[in-house]
Amino acid sequence: MSRILIIEDEEAIADLERDYLELSGFEVETEQDGTKGLERALAEDFDMYILDLMLPGTDGFEICKQIREVKNTPVLMVSAKKDDIDKIRGLGLGADDYITKPFSPSELVARVKAHLSRYERLIGSAAEQNDIVEIRGLKIDKTARRVWVNDEEKQFTTKEFDLLTFLAQHPNHVFTKDELFREIWDMESIGDVATVTVHIKKIREKIEINTSKPQYIETIWGVGYRFKI
Ligand code: CA
Repeated sequence: MSRILIIEDEEAIADLERDYLELSGFEVETEQDGTKGLERALAEDFDMYILDLMLPGTDGFEICKQIREVKNTPVLMVSAKKDDIDKIRGLGLGADDYITKPFSPSELVARVKAHLSRYERLIGSAAEQNDIVEIRGLKIDKTARRVWVNDEEKQFTTKEFDLLTFLAQHPNHVFTKDELFREIWDMESIGDVATVTVHIKKIREKIEINTSKPQYIETIWGVGYRFKI
């Protein structure tokens, strides 16, 4: 969940901003004093800052400047006067956006969402991407070894995870139980294919809505299993 810091000394405005952003699913913190707000802005991790310009303690210009010296986090500046916006631009403080009071809360929310998604894309493209396999509602993160079914995380044992991932990475390919046993258990299968059956059953209990009508791992009678795509 994205976390936003609002630094605003007018309580009614801070409350309005917070209420609308919380309704949109954001976690919001507020500070009324500029100096205290700046301290928190620098010390804590936020995904976005919303700064009023005229504040007790440290003003919005200075806060923005200091944030920019150390962070690329989006900054939205809120001003009571249109003239101030020209001033902010002129100072080149590195604010990402400006909005004048009075503003409509929905406009504020729309701008916050736009900046956050742009920033997340930026971060996402810079960060190393995890190796993810995604098939319909099933998501397997091979790097983190985590599995989600319709956004709900499920716990898998090592072998269950390996077996599921192996099948999901070879869709439409029928594997015999012997082949799967050799592949996952890494030893010659000496008739212990029942292990495979047991693991398939456990995997199905975690990923299938109806285990008797599996939508992911099909049983090919007399042969083995196939991951459906
Ligand atoms: Ca103010």
